[in-house]
This record gives sequence, structure tokens and C-alpha cells, in this order.
Amino acid sequence: MTIIQLIEEADRCVKCALCLPHCPTYQLVKNEAASPRGRIALMQAWLQDELPSNAQLYQHLDSCLMCRSCEGACPSGVKYGVLMDGVRRHRWQSWGRLARLRSRLLLMLLSNRRLPIVVRPLLHLYQMSSVSTLFRGWLPSWLKRVESMLPQLTAIKAIQPNYPTTQTQKRRVILFTGCISQLVEREVHQAAITLLNHLGCDVVIPDSQCCCGAMHRHAGDSSAAARLMVQNRAHLSDESFDALLFMASGCGAELAEQGGFSQPVRDISDYLLQLDWPDDLELQPLNARVVIHEPCSMFYGRFDRQAVPLLLQKIPQLQTVMFNNAPLCCGAAGSYMLTQSEMSHQLQRLKVEAVKKLQPDILVTTNTGCALQLRSGLREAGLNVEVLHPLQLIARQLSVT
Ligand code: SF4
Ligand code: SF4
Repeated sequence: MTIIQLIEEADRCVKCALCLPHCPTYQLVKNEAASPRGRIALMQAWLQDELPSNAQLYQHLDSCLMCRSCEGACPSGVKYGVLMDGVRRHRWQSWGRLARLRSRLLLMLLSNRRLPIVVRPLLHLYQMSSVSTLFRGWLPSWLKRVESMLPQLTAIKAIQPNYPTTQTQKRRVILFTGCISQLVEREVHQAAITLLNHLGCDVVIPDSQCCCGAMHRHAGDSSAAARLMVQNRAHLSDESFDALLFMASGCGAELAEQGGFSQPVRDISDYLLQLDWPDDLELQPLNARVVIHEPCSMFYGRFDRQAVPLLLQKIPQLQTVMFNNAPLCCGAAGSYMLTQSEMSHQLQRLKVEAVKKLQPDILVTTNTGCALQLRSGLREAGLNVEVLHPLQLIARQLSVT
């Protein structure tokens, strides 16, 4: 969008304030500049050269999570996400080389698909050895926080490109595995492959796929985001496949909104639900209380929010509870948990307090960042709640008679 188009979009805001109760940052600090209405006013003034670029302005804009909860509440239909992306893009273009390089290095680190191949075995060894207990006390607080986000990594093998089903093959799908999830969600990928294979799907995971680019776009580096999507389109777009399936809803929303793929982009939970489950495929009962956390990306991606609860209903005896404080983002929001760590931490604590009241044994969520954030928050609060992707829970209970 050009500056004129961005100003026109911002002018659609009638300053009614109906979005304010839906904004997590405004709810937290009760400051107009940390609300959607306030940020839109700041963007208008900045775009029209009525406000200089300075650290305070940037802080107000950067403290936005891009959860887009405000969009759903806006009667004027202001496209807040497009607006903020556009403003951050113009800001990125106004930066000097050093500032761009710093931001690019962080994004490269977070979105690198190769790095987990080296890092994951090392982290697994670290978790298994007594070194982790010895070192924990010496780690700086930010590294302690990163460490507490990690799930228990298993010695699971690297994911291969092809997993043909041994059942009567009915469908072929491509699985999107993205970037950071290669490090922390390989167990989720394995669960997805197991379930899809059991339900008669051949699974293809092209290694040439890359990060979806959402983090880059939200940071303002729209050319890097576009480059990544072009690469994904070149390697994943194929109408001979039934669907391009995603497991992380944040990536899914980016692929669905920006992708332009030949085959439909589908949430894997929703897709699994629509398959025929053979009679000999039973799920073992589980007597546990599971809280279902809905990531913000499930809302703005407009994915079917009933899919996960319906899928979990297939496990006999499982008690599921919807986590009903949707407008309150957990504070993960891509790289936000690192770049805005104080605000992220406060939102995390609020979310954990709300989880605590529901007394779950297990919490399920469909987004990688939310899983990392909630796991670390629950550990910090001393709560023994396992955080899983719903597919992991289903695959665990799988038994074929
Ligand atoms: S995107 Fe989320 S954090 Fe940002 S203004 Fe909207 S509701 Fe608030
Ligand atoms: S609800 Fe929409 S129109 Fe009203 S203040 Fe918020 S962004 Fe502006």
C-alpha cells in the first residue's frame, strides 16, 4: 500500500472505541497509545508528517502484538493488520543499514530451517544430562526463559520427504512444517504423519519449503516475506494434492492470506475430522481434563474453531474445556516474546492465572509460539500442566485392533 492508501485506510476509523475492550495491550496498561484507536491516530499523524519518528512512537507501534483482535470488533471494518504492516514497511524502508541488519539477523536466526538440524541434538543432550541442572542457576534471565519454553525433546529422527500410507490410499497431502517448529515440534510432525497414514493419506514434506514469512512481514521486511512466499509457492503449490496442511495456525493464516497456492490450505485438525475413520482404529480412553487454548491466529485466519474440540471428542472419557478468554493474547506473537519481553511476560502471567483457575491436566494449543509461551509460564508458576498440540494427544491414544 502507498502512503496515500494507508492514510485512507486509517481515516476509516471513526474513533468509536469499540475495539478497546478487545485489545490485550490496552487492557494491560490502560493507555490510549497502546490501544488500536490510539495507534491508528499515531499512524495517521506519522504518515502525514505531523509527528516525528522517535523512540516513543516506535515503542507504541511495536508494543502491538498484531493479534488483530481489534479487527473483529471494528464496525467500520478497518483493516488494522494491513495498516500496521504497511506502516512498519515504510518505517523499515526509512531505517539505516545497521538497523535493518540487526532486525534481519534476529529474523534469520528465528526462521532458519537448517539450524534445528544442528541445534536439536545438542539441546536433547543438554536436557538429558545433569549439566542442565548445574547450569540453570547461572543462566541469564532471558536464557532461563528461553530454556523454560522448550518441550522435552526426544531423540526422534529427522523428518523425511515421503511417508506413503500402508492403508488403501485415498488421498495425497503436503505437510507444511515451516521453520522453528523443526526444532521444537518434530513430535507434532510425527503425530500428524502417523494419523494421516492411518487414515489413508500419503504424506509429502518437501525439504525445499521455508518459513512462511509472517514474522518478516510483521517486522516490516515485506520483501523478505514475499521472497519466502515465492519459494514456498514454487515448492508446495500443486493441484494434484488434496490439500496443503498446516499444524501451526500462525503459519496457516499467513499461507492462506498471502500464499495463492493451487490446492486448498487446510487446518490439519479440520482435515482429519472430515476423513473416514476406519472401524479398527480406536482411541484409548483417557481420564484427564484438557483445556483447549485458541490462538489469535485461529480467529483472524477464520479457521473452524470447532475442529479441535470435535477431534478430541474421539478420545473416550476425555473432559475438554474451552479456554474462553479469547481476546487476551498470550503474548507470544512471533518474535514479540523476545523483542517486547516485558509486555510479553505480563500477558503470559495473566494467561497462566486464567489457566490455573481451570485446573487442567493438559493444555492443548495449535500454535507453536503459544505452546512455547504457555509452557514457560506454567513452569514458572510451578504448575504441572503438560502443553501439547491436539494431534500429539490423539496420536498417543491411537491403537489399531
Ligand atoms: S492487533 Fe491486538 S495488540 Fe494490536 S491494537 Fe489490535 S488488539 Fe491491540
Ligand atoms: S472499533 Fe474500528 S472504528 Fe472504532 S475506534 Fe476501533 S478501529 Fe476505530
